Amino acid sequence: MDQAQPASLTPTDPRVTAFLARRHQLFIGGAWREPAAVALLDVHDPATGEVIARVPCANAQDVDAAVKAAAEAFTNGAWTGLPPAERERILLRFADAVEANAEELAQLETLNQGKSINIARHVDIGGAPAYMRYIAGLTTKLTGETLDVSIGAIPGAKFTAYTRREPLGVVAAIAPWNFPMMIGLWKIMPALAAGCTVVLKPSEVTPLTSLRLAELAAEAGLPAGVLNLITGDGATGRALVDHPLVSKVTFTGSTETGKAIALATAGRLVRTSLELGGKNPAIFLKDVPIDQAVGGALLGGFFNNGQVCAASSRLYVARETYGAFVEALVAAVDGLSIGPGMDASAQVNPVVSAAHRDKVIGSIETARRDGARIVAGGDLPNRPGYYVRPTVIVDAGPDLAISRQEVFGPVVTVTAFDDEAEALRLANDTSMGLTASLWTNDLKKVLDYVPRLQAGTVWVNSHNVLDPNMPFGGFKESGIGRDFGLASLEGYTELKSVCMAH
Ligand code: NAD
Repeated sequence: MDQAQPASLTPTDPRVTAFLARRHQLFIGGAWREPAAVALLDVHDPATGEVIARVPCANAQDVDAAVKAAAEAFTNGAWTGLPPAERERILLRFADAVEANAEELAQLETLNQGKSINIARHVDIGGAPAYMRYIAGLTTKLTGETLDVSIGAIPGAKFTAYTRREPLGVVAAIAPWNFPMMIGLWKIMPALAAGCTVVLKPSEVTPLTSLRLAELAAEAGLPAGVLNLITGDGATGRALVDHPLVSKVTFTGSTETGKAIALATAGRLVRTSLELGGKNPAIFLKDVPIDQAVGGALLGGFFNNGQVCAASSRLYVARETYGAFVEALVAAVDGLSIGPGMDASAQVNPVVSAAHRDKVIGSIETARRDGARIVAGGDLPNRPGYYVRPTVIVDAGPDLAISRQEVFGPVVTVTAFDDEAEALRLANDTSMGLTASLWTNDLKKVLDYVPRLQAGTVWVNSHNVLDPNMPFGGFKESGIGRDFGLASLEGYTELKSVCMAH
């Protein structure tokens, strides 16, 4: 239902107002720097559409300055040369700084991204210090192995061999707009812990918390040039990816952009990790109580207004419970209250931008034209800002665009299945493979389904649960590489073998 309340609520933290009033620059070599050319990007509040800040759109010259500052910081040993325990100490202080400024960062994230302040407080920003401390702790845990050398050795000679992990160099980190600061941290923390230096480019739509983050890292003691922050658009990202001093690109964003980056980095064989889109299934077996299933569908499909790479946008429900499930889901979705993210009681918030709202509505319209039925939502609430009413679609065949292409908004399709084979065939019928969830209390079914679901993460009776200890990344076109865990640090290193003759 539409609410008769103000379109947005002003921030209550005075530091946010002060930050928004600043003239924003680029953070290069440990200081704020003017961009080479005056080109600005407008930053909007999705709840009102108003411009709340302007940030520089860095050009190739700015990118060059930032990469050179990172390269200098890598080669001068100011970071890489520190004992791992000292790097760990500085990264722990960085986590403390984020924690100390959490409310300011959460309000900034909500004002810029549109998301619920509850999510910003408890997930984006609230979850950051624990993640940062976990990764900081790995700084001192990177190790090699000692190896026996016997085959191919000179007869009679003895050798001792070992491996060591060495930081790759300058990392280009490119982030999306759905969890702006959180995903930025998923890139810069393991890169820094491994001893690399970084140039971070947040999304042009949501740059604000990253600007604050660069400053907090410097205050925590990160040496000049170790973390550089440039704001800009796709052209800025392209210039960064193409820079010859970049040794690794770590990217989170759409599959389309990820493929363009893979093509660009292939020419120089630059190490590249890609966390891309998802068209993730949730399968509800017949034994799951309807209220539990609907709760799972709301969590998986509508959390953060569906702007989650891991979101369950395709719901498959056992034929026996399909009718009751759809009826209960439609009632639940229709009852969600709509309002700005700064209103902690609003359950549905705006999507990130006008362009994205139009894309989401366009996908719904295409589904309607293709013969699918919209049984909840499907339109725009009558209020300013970039709202899309949460939408449930049925009768969407597996070949329709709505069943195949990521919408990245509050939109789910619901489809009935008759048996296990059909459920698995439908769930795996996608070019992507980021996540899946299975809802059942039947352990045998769990053991049957899990190995056959083509996804980097499979949740059982849950969805969207992430932990720094649990590798996260995609099968198929959902990406290459994994975030989290020790493996994420290793992705920022080269493995060197050392063989010594006695
Ligand atoms: P996007 O691909 O449009 O943009 C992502 C970033 O890439 C932005 O910073 C953008 O400026 C930059 N960029 C654009 N073109 C570029 C180019 N040619 N070279 C270098 N950089 C370029 O993605 P988005 O719309 O910001 O984010 C939404 C997408 O991100 C969704 O597809 C979502 O599934 C995906 N995502 C994936 C994960 C994951 O972990 N797998 C997490 C969050 C979001």
